[in-house]
Amino acid sequence: MSDRNYLVLLGAPGAGKGTQAQLLQEKLGLPQVSTGEIFRYNLKNQTELGKLAQSYYDKGELVPDEVTIRMVEARLEQEDAAQGAILDGFPRNLVQAQALDEMTAGHGGVDVVPMIQLDDDVVTMRITGRRLCRSCDRVYHIMFNPPRGEKCDSCGGELYQRNDDKPETVQNRLYVYYKQTSPLIGYYFAKGLLVEVDGAGSIQEIQEQLLGRLAARNIEAAGRSVRV
Ligand code: AMP
Repeated sequence: MSDRNYLVLLGAPGAGKGTQAQLLQEKLGLPQVSTGEIFRYNLKNQTELGKLAQSYYDKGELVPDEVTIRMVEARLEQEDAAQGAILDGFPRNLVQAQALDEMTAGHGGVDVVPMIQLDDDVVTMRITGRRLCRSCDRVYHIMFNPPRGEKCDSCGGELYQRNDDKPETVQNRLYVYYKQTSPLIGYYFAKGLLVEVDGAGSIQEIQEQLLGRLAARNIEAAGRSVRV
């Protein structure tokens, strides 16, 4: 029985999964569960988990599966995920995908897997131009969404570039994506869960496309309102 909705957003780093997941959570009333964000929070606060993840994170490598899987399991048990979740950045390999199947099996499993497609050169440009505010985490892009000055427009905080957004690490992240994560396209396609979304275009255009695909899959049938 599917009493919860689990969405998995697939796509290369920089394809826009996080941005779309953030918008989607308001529309669907489901929380965004971003493993990258959970790691960044733990790195910033230098928790045990953060210290463990640091070296992998900085190189653009995957944090070991047992750590990541346990972390997601705990997150999905939290109260705000009682109706399901939008997973962004997890799973990233077949072991994680199988673990997610087990975690969600009692609730009908994963419902739909939107795959955001974008060319590598666009992805690279998007990632290397990304800047974040150290205080409020607002995201900018030096070309596509620049701040008005040198500081954060919202809070005046310092802007910085994520270590793993630097050009030398981005190549490795793309390599890791093709080697480890892209097999998930076939995995979810075979289960009939994959829907493709064109990642070129404005944030709003992509969101509308995504909502259209979800509506076609009856994601709103669980009583949630999907407004396109
Ligand atoms: P992201 O913000 O999704 O691009 O993730 C940033 C970094 O966090 C990745 O390059 C990995 O080092 C780590 N990470 C995020 N999600 C996972 C995952 N599912 N498995 C292992 N490592 C992850």
